[in-house]
Amino acid sequence: MNELINVEELFGCKVFTHRKMKERLPKEVYREVMRVREQGGELSLGTADVVAKAMKDWAIENGATHYTHWFQPLTGITAEKHDAFVTHPDEDGRMIMDFSGKELIKGEPDASSFPSGGLRATFEARGYTTWDITSPAFLKEDATGVILCIPTAFCSYKGEALDTKTPLLRSMEAISEQALRIVKLFGNTEATKVTPSVGAEQEYFLVDRQKYLQRKDLIFAGRTLFGAPAPKGQEMDDHYFGTIRERVGAYMKDINIELWKLGVSAKTQHNEAAPAQHELAPIYETANIAADHNQLVMETMKKVAGRHGLTCLLHEKPFAGVNGSGKHDNWSLCTDNGVNMLEPGESPNENIQFLLVLACIMRAVDKHADLLRQSAANVGNDHRLGGNEAPPAIISIFLGEQLEDVVRQLVETGQATHLTEGGKLETGVSTLPDFVKDATDRNRTSPFAFTGNKFEFRSVGASDSIGSPNTTLNAIVAEAFCEAADVLEAAEDFDQAVHDLIKKYMTEHQRIIFNGNGYSQEWVEEAARRGLPNIGSMVGTIETLTTEKSIALFEKFHIFTKAELEARKEVLYDTFSKTINIEALTMIDMTRKQILPAVVKYTKSLADTVIAVREAGADATVQSELLKEVSEKLAETKAALNKLEEAEATAKTMKCPKELAFYYNDTVKVAMEALRAPVDKLEMLVAKEIWPMPSYGDLLFEV
Ligand code: ADP
Ligand code: MG
Repeated sequence: MNELINVEELFGCKVFTHRKMKERLPKEVYREVMRVREQGGELSLGTADVVAKAMKDWAIENGATHYTHWFQPLTGITAEKHDAFVTHPDEDGRMIMDFSGKELIKGEPDASSFPSGGLRATFEARGYTTWDITSPAFLKEDATGVILCIPTAFCSYKGEALDTKTPLLRSMEAISEQALRIVKLFGNTEATKVTPSVGAEQEYFLVDRQKYLQRKDLIFAGRTLFGAPAPKGQEMDDHYFGTIRERVGAYMKDINIELWKLGVSAKTQHNEAAPAQHELAPIYETANIAADHNQLVMETMKKVAGRHGLTCLLHEKPFAGVNGSGKHDNWSLCTDNGVNMLEPGESPNENIQFLLVLACIMRAVDKHADLLRQSAANVGNDHRLGGNEAPPAIISIFLGEQLEDVVRQLVETGQATHLTEGGKLETGVSTLPDFVKDATDRNRTSPFAFTGNKFEFRSVGASDSIGSPNTTLNAIVAEAFCEAADVLEAAEDFDQAVHDLIKKYMTEHQRIIFNGNGYSQEWVEEAARRGLPNIGSMVGTIETLTTEKSIALFEKFHIFTKAELEARKEVLYDTFSKTINIEALTMIDMTRKQILPAVVKYTKSLADTVIAVREAGADATVQSELLKEVSEKLAETKAALNKLEEAEATAKTMKCPKELAFYYNDTVKVAMEALRAPVDKLEMLVAKEIWPMPSYGDLLFEV
């Protein structure tokens, strides 16, 4: 039944891999590409021509007709404009397919319509895409044909970043430079580069496409704006890790195959907590490539769903009342001679380099908790962070019992002399082996958890690019490393200095550590006592980008200029307002055109029934009670609709992007909730065949 899948053969077949370059490029050209890839710099135009030709030949052999500079503007997704390889036909009318080094290296999309936050006025709308040599080119195949995609960065005429890739690459250079200083201090002089490794676990929902098409809210907003809860939710925990249904399984298999072809090492798949919710995790890789690949994962998930009569929802909160979707961003730092700086080893209490790295990360996260929170903020994520579910909006670090104890010893005595042991886990069954317990348990409620040899940043939203969170992580840790290295490089007694610094940092920043239940009200109160920021909404996070400390951080490491940060703020305010505006208009549309007419029709049929039953001489109390209940909710709905329309009208009069975004957050969103409440009640009162759209039960349980 299942055809044989040869993964080894399949893997990377649509990628212009190193191996293919090595086979197809003259030796010295290949070497130059690798050198620039590893150490930076520019390819000569001559070399670029040779690479472009080889790339084009390979692409055409695989059916490509076009190429595109594939980039990641501030829309959160990817963009592409296709150009065919065709040239002027020659005198005999023959077509020679061509692709030059210049076209490979640089593009100039007429990109005036991408968000720039004022960095480009439309009259100077030039935007440039430049080849990111560190991320491999690949082939995308769909109804348009086969397209050669060249990962690129996207900048303005003046070189200002207009995308998520450019700052990420800048932050990777910053952390590499500063992390190298740290490892050198501990005697690792062979390392020439330190790379952040990232593995992004992607959560998603699958719904039946036909049902999806009957819901305007899913179509326009990606989430349900109305919907009474189904009789069953996720309370039985029977979906989490449950048996994967056939239709979903076929979908997962297809995605894996597509991703493997694209060189994405899709590894883990399972059902998630909410009904119809699932997860896919690839194996971690260099941050920049992980970010590109996560975009491909999201794109592939959406595309492949169509083939199975499904729609993939990546929104952070498609359904009220059950879990939303996030993207756990696993992050660690590896030297190019194979050392993971976040590996505690057997005895973390004696691993001074690890303890220093940990102390620096504590310092970074505590100092810039607001920025880290910001980096995971998007419109949909407001329903998760600080909203109805986890992780909380308060940034804290989970270390686990053993490391927390090490930190405590260091803070109290300056020495960590012993380790709490994991101990043995006895199964109590003679045929099952006993095993050594991990010294750390898991804590799913923490936004930033140490999990063995990496940190897991759990706040990121499912639909968001991982560019910004990783840029921020790299930046804040680079700063802490830099400060530590400044002290330690100047120290006369290194051992004493490092000891003092670890103690100092851990003491000053121990408030950021929290091992308890991050979902509890007690934590909210405790965090307030500790002075940790608790920013409940996306709009509330935006100003953190241009605080003095933020500008100092990003400018020092050449990741963002002040102008770029200002621009990003404007884009964020604007995105927020536009998104909520679409949601509000969708609600108005659905209420006016679908819900009110359906309910009016239902009241008419109830009224007819009441009259008919009475005329027939029977008791119509139940029918008339029902009519009364429905009519009351109908009136509430109409009143709430009027209010939402008024709020929308007021919004139209506002000019200042920040003021408008706050208005959408504080007033329009509240009016939307107020409209949803009576409509959801009506859904429970009105006959199923009259309700104009599929219910939560239909969507969540009938995939
Ligand atoms: P869990 O989060 O349940 O412990 P895994 O350990 O399998 O699951 O990892 C989840 C994700 O973290 C995967 O994408 C994995 O490749 C990635 N990951 C594992 N080790 C590291 C590491 N050292 N650095 C970055 N990511 C990592
Ligand atoms: Mg995980």
